[in-house]
Amino acid sequence: MQKETYDVVVVGAGVVGCSVSYHLAQSGLKVALVDKGSAAGEASQAAAGMLAPLGDEAPNQEHPLQQLGMAALGYYDGLDEQLKQETGIDIGLVDVPTLRPAFDEQGVAHLQALLTRQQHFLPGLQWLDGSLVHKIEPLLPETVQGALLSPYERSVQAARITLAYARGAAIRGAHLVEGCPVGRLIRQGQRVVGVETTQGPMYAGVIALAAGAWATQWHTRTSIPPIFPVKGQMMALQAPPSLHLRHTVYAYGVGGIVPKSDGTIFVGSTVEQAGFDKAVTAGGIATLLAAVTKLTPDLNRARFVRAWTGLRPGSADGLPLIGPSQSVQGLWIAGGYFRDGILLGPLTGHILAELIQKHSTPFGLDLQAFNPDRFGGWDSASSLT
Ligand SMILES: Cc1cc2nc3c(=O)[nH]c(=O)nc-3n(C[C@H](O)[C@H](O)[C@H](O)COP(=O)(O)OP(=O)(O)OC[C@H]3O[C@@H](n4cnc5c(N)ncnc54)[C@H](O)[C@@H]3O)c2cc1C
Repeated sequence: MQKETYDVVVVGAGVVGCSVSYHLAQSGLKVALVDKGSAAGEASQAAAGMLAPLGDEAPNQEHPLQQLGMAALGYYDGLDEQLKQETGIDIGLVDVPTLRPAFDEQGVAHLQALLTRQQHFLPGLQWLDGSLVHKIEPLLPETVQGALLSPYERSVQAARITLAYARGAAIRGAHLVEGCPVGRLIRQGQRVVGVETTQGPMYAGVIALAAGAWATQWHTRTSIPPIFPVKGQMMALQAPPSLHLRHTVYAYGVGGIVPKSDGTIFVGSTVEQAGFDKAVTAGGIATLLAAVTKLTPDLNRARFVRAWTGLRPGSADGLPLIGPSQSVQGLWIAGGYFRDGILLGPLTGHILAELIQKHSTPFGLDLQAFNPDRFGGWDSASSLT
């Protein structure tokens, strides 16, 4: 590769890096979007695509992740139309409500407490008794005692939204470089001026790191890695029309059954500390089948389509890392999105692009809790492997 100079090099073409690139390119900046593999090749193609800011143990509506999650859910309004028009890609956004069923008294108490804390936060949230739950979702088993109905949590095709942003960025002139691992940051003093890649150096005054589960290689060595891989296994089913699932069904610690816009049903997901291993395992499939049997037993008659894994970028305190590095000037971080990257990626990609250009946060959001230096500084020390 010839010596290339850009305004911004974005490292990582998952949903976050593609959204950042799209918005930077829209502003007329010269952008390179570089990935070691392909766009949407890692976590952003593996996700269930639930847009679920409610979470599992949501503490209260003041929690920074919930504030961000709510804004991110709203950001999806009209996004499907916009990206379809600009790129021709249908992101598969579906308005299928979510049901969180309870199977015993403890489950009922937990979900009702969640309802009390969250009902002003998510409009339309309501408790349904067992008999009503069956009427609206006959695929739930008779053992269900009641369920929390959440009409505004939606779902999307994760790979498609990522590819739509990648294509949108390319249409606006961004240079997508695939199969190109990025190694060391090139620095002059405390300022970053480019990156080493397997295809040679690429120069830019701004580097945006959106490298998912791999981002820690650019962090100073501390006892706590700020970002680490959390493996998730998933499978897809195809059900006959007689087994039409009308809701996303989600139970904390059990799994999620998510009807997709193409008629398949995604079943997810395991949560495993397995390093960078991406094998689909017998144990993983057993966990997913157990979720089907518990939540929607009739779907055991559905056809198995495929199974896959992805590596979520977990973060040490469960919050993403978004903003400028204080230790390396010109370096920006967008990582650690863990289980919410498809929900948060579109909005926060837009936010990071605005921050890079204007140093002010759009949408009136407070990003203090997401300070990327809270586990220590970032550095350039990684070399190409
Ligand atoms: C099984 C599963 C289910 C999930 N379900 C949901 C869900 O329902 N809802 C939700 O909101 N989120 C969900 N998530 C989480 C979501 O997928 C992630 O949070 C999100 O995809 C993270 O996006 P990212 O762009 O940060 O990372 P990624 O999509 O992993 O992208 C990072 C990119 O960086 C590239 N890269 C890494 N190192 C380098 C390097 N050295 N040089 C160049 N490129 C590099 C990688 O190749 C990769 O393409 C799920 C994840 C999994 C695994």
